[in-house]
Amino acid sequence: MKLNIDDRFTKELPADPILDNSRRQVQKACFSYVTPKKTENPEILHISPEMLSALGLTEEDATSKQFLNVFTGNSVLPNTTPYAMCYGGHQFGNWAGQLGDGRAINLAEVKHDNQHWTLQLKGAGETPYSRTADGLAVLRSSVREYLCSEAMYHLGVPTTRALSLALSGDEVLRDMLYDGNAAYEKGAIVCRVSQSFLRFGNYQLLGARQDEETLKTLVDYTIKHHFPQLGTPSKETYLKFFEGVLNSTLEMIIHWQRVGFVHGVMNTDNLSILGQTIDYGPYGWLEGYDHNWTPNTTDSQFKRYRYGAQMEIGHWNLYQLANALYPLIGEADDLERILHSYHEKAQGQYLVMMRSKLGLFTEDKNDVELIGNLENILQLTETDMTIFFRNLSDFSTESPLEGLTIVTDAFYLPNDISDLIKQKWNSWFLDYATRLQKEEHTSKERKEQMNQVNPKYVLRNYMAQLAIDAANKGDYKLIDDLFKLLKKPYDEQPENEQWFVKRPDWARHKAGCSMLSCSS
Ligand code: AMP
Ligand code: MG
Repeated sequence: MKLNIDDRFTKELPADPILDNSRRQVQKACFSYVTPKKTENPEILHISPEMLSALGLTEEDATSKQFLNVFTGNSVLPNTTPYAMCYGGHQFGNWAGQLGDGRAINLAEVKHDNQHWTLQLKGAGETPYSRTADGLAVLRSSVREYLCSEAMYHLGVPTTRALSLALSGDEVLRDMLYDGNAAYEKGAIVCRVSQSFLRFGNYQLLGARQDEETLKTLVDYTIKHHFPQLGTPSKETYLKFFEGVLNSTLEMIIHWQRVGFVHGVMNTDNLSILGQTIDYGPYGWLEGYDHNWTPNTTDSQFKRYRYGAQMEIGHWNLYQLANALYPLIGEADDLERILHSYHEKAQGQYLVMMRSKLGLFTEDKNDVELIGNLENILQLTETDMTIFFRNLSDFSTESPLEGLTIVTDAFYLPNDISDLIKQKWNSWFLDYATRLQKEEHTSKERKEQMNQVNPKYVLRNYMAQLAIDAANKGDYKLIDDLFKLLKKPYDEQPENEQWFVKRPDWARHKAGCSMLSCSS
């Protein structure tokens, strides 16, 4: 196995001088050297062929003993120095101080085909940042991260990637429902891949500690490697950097809204500086379209990270990042101006995105109202978001009152829809037909365009759970089936129609299928 190693993070940024693995506060450094934990009986369960070739590896490499050992933490690649990153973050609105990679270990950076990647194991053992936890991960959360990050990539949503999913062979103790019933589960390790795993929290921790020197070093490093077009660091460059992060964060969240993805834990340590979806924990997919829905049981009281709040939370998090960068800029006006631009951009981009979901190619002054009305009616009865938008592409302006029939599969209780709600739907479909008549595209063109933004297949919460249940029994076929299905989320796949259905009734309240705890 030959990887083209090109380490920059450890070479160019200050390291923690302490080499032991004790829990500690790490000052004036961006990372600590660590060695992954050896595992009992590792087994690779799945590999992403796309990621394999992106890294310059072959199918043959993937079956080698070295691949197994490296990507389960049992051997270290020659001439590399694995490390855990130091970062902090706001958790659920409160500053939490130092957090850091408590169970993520970066193995090395690889350059291939002019792309630069960092390889990171999640669940490979303790680091100085593990605090009170064990540095391990269980199979269920690892399957969810592995499948979802690759699925998001194929949906066109900016995301970290995944190379491999493995069993460690070790057992991990978890209290899944936080109800005092801890039990042993299978341990697992995912190899995640990204251009960078830097988060808002990396900058925030240095800002909070008033360590301006390291902050400047880290920001300059980020600009040099990830925003090279901005040029030599200066106050102007820092502002443009912040604006770039704001734009990419917003773009990512608009994609989440488009496909119905709810991250679940939008803490600032879980927001990537590159605007990639990162840290797949208790995330979920909207089934019934509901702005108030969050998959995260830990957040069920205040629903801070609910679907309908994600754009606003993006702004809140960017505000924290702006605070962290402020010392490098020395005045607040320009940062505030950029922050203020967020809402207008968000509204504009949301509108563009929603128009695309409705097959509207042109702009009309009443679109905001048309979309707002739709969002309201969608929430009157439980209506499956994915099925609704996918089936809407069959709507015909010639028979608007057949609209309800066209989307009927999306209703969880089609027989319980009151006459009043039916009336509201019919009136909306009439407005939609009138609006579509202002467009010049044919219905065929509209359908094609809509089907490129409204996925047919997403990783519904119960689908991931079925794959997990089978995997826990040693059957990994469904992981592979879903992996393949989700490579083409916008395509019609007649052989896979069984996955284009509403969440089955048994899954409504089953753990893992609707709500999830942070335990992983
Ligand atoms: P999360 O909410 O998953 O983003 O995690 C928040 C913080 O807790 C991060 O610093 C993680 O590295 C750390 N963490 C989560 N789970 C574990 C674990 N099992 N062992 C060590 N650290 C963990
Ligand atoms: Mg995290």
